[in-house]
Amino acid sequence: MAQNRKKVLVLGAGYAGLQAVTKLQKEVSANEAEITLVNKNKYHYEATWLHEASAGTLNYEDLIYPIESVIDKNKVNFINAEVTKIDRNAKKVETTHGIFEYDILVVALGFESETFGINGMKEHAFQIENIHTARELSRHIEDKFANYAASKEKDENDLAILVGGAGFTGIEFLGELTDRIPELCNKYGVDQNKVKITCVEAMPKILPMFSENLVNYVVNYLEERGVEFKIGTPIVACNEKGFKVKTNDQEQQLEANTAVWAAGVRGSQLMEESFEGVKRGRIVTKQDLTIDGHDDIFVIGDVSAFIPAGEERPLPTTAQIAMQQGAHVAKNIENILNGQATTDFEYIDRGTVCSLGSHDGVGHVFGRDITGKKAAFMKKVIDTRAVFKMGGVGLAFKKGKF
Ligand code: NAD
Repeated sequence: MAQNRKKVLVLGAGYAGLQAVTKLQKEVSANEAEITLVNKNKYHYEATWLHEASAGTLNYEDLIYPIESVIDKNKVNFINAEVTKIDRNAKKVETTHGIFEYDILVVALGFESETFGINGMKEHAFQIENIHTARELSRHIEDKFANYAASKEKDENDLAILVGGAGFTGIEFLGELTDRIPELCNKYGVDQNKVKITCVEAMPKILPMFSENLVNYVVNYLEERGVEFKIGTPIVACNEKGFKVKTNDQEQQLEANTAVWAAGVRGSQLMEESFEGVKRGRIVTKQDLTIDGHDDIFVIGDVSAFIPAGEERPLPTTAQIAMQQGAHVAKNIENILNGQATTDFEYIDRGTVCSLGSHDGVGHVFGRDITGKKAAFMKKVIDTRAVFKMGGVGLAFKKGKF
């Protein structure tokens, strides 16, 4: 019996991969499958809370929990290693801690920051990408306030923060900053009127997926708290002084001692190295979440581009979608183990909320626009639900937002 066990290999313990494993371990017996999970960190982190840790409104420790605390060690072999190569012809994956063979592979390697080759961006701007970047950025912001307070010859740019991109990440980060800045001013005795936060966005409109009412709410909320928007202004370079932007065909230098790039994400670089037809680290999947020519490879989360039947554009990359895909893949693997056909993935859109600090926000939930405390409450429900779905009531109690 045990010799027939299929080798299921899951790469990545983000929302998609970890959800697949936590569901699989409930449904599949140890006799049916040998499940191996590979992840470069020993912990899972709440990627959707990174803007909070980056601004310093939440401690980075609150975003992480050990992967081993949510997996069943009798069923899942956890390998703390980095994936270095996927060899789909040999059905093997190379990692920094050995080579693993598979019968069924789940690729869930997640996102990284994309700077589109903009000169100096990687070197001079902070990214909102992982726990390390969040720690660096929150410390840097505080250091600049402390430095300003302690210096005799004050550098006004210590109190200037540039945020590139007014997508969800940029806006949610700005919302957190407007919570954090008054705290820092109070702590270091800095006049809040001297703080300058500027958001630079290339497109003429921010948050295009939201109604005009919601967009106006966001802009008013942030402007009232001192954020200046430069819309329709592409960033063309970054240097030690800040961003270089283009306005009316003229280049202009915006100065700040903190520049944050929140203007683009892509799937893992490993995707291009491992598969054909990959764009910005994402591969188009079939309806059952496998990929063309490989019924034994599922690709989910931010490295996948799932185009719902009858539509033309792939779904965006969100935690909600990644978790639903993880759960669906677990079902499909169970089907394969039982000799049944796989089923198509159907995304259930439960709505979207964009937070503005911890007490405000906007969203479109159950077909309705919501703003203010209602949106902030919904966001906490969404955040806590994600934790619950990975580790049950115990984890939700420890890490949830209520
Ligand atoms: P994004 O790609 O959605 O937004 C990036 C923004 O940066 C865009 O508005 C773009 O026009 C702008 N930009 C790009 N290049 C620029 C340049 N050179 N100069 C100035 N502006 C430039 O990225 P994101 O906000 O990180 O979101 C990534 C994904 O994650 C999206 O699918 C989003 O829906 C999802 N997300 C969702 C939530 C949520 O549901 N609350 C939160 C964060 C992210």
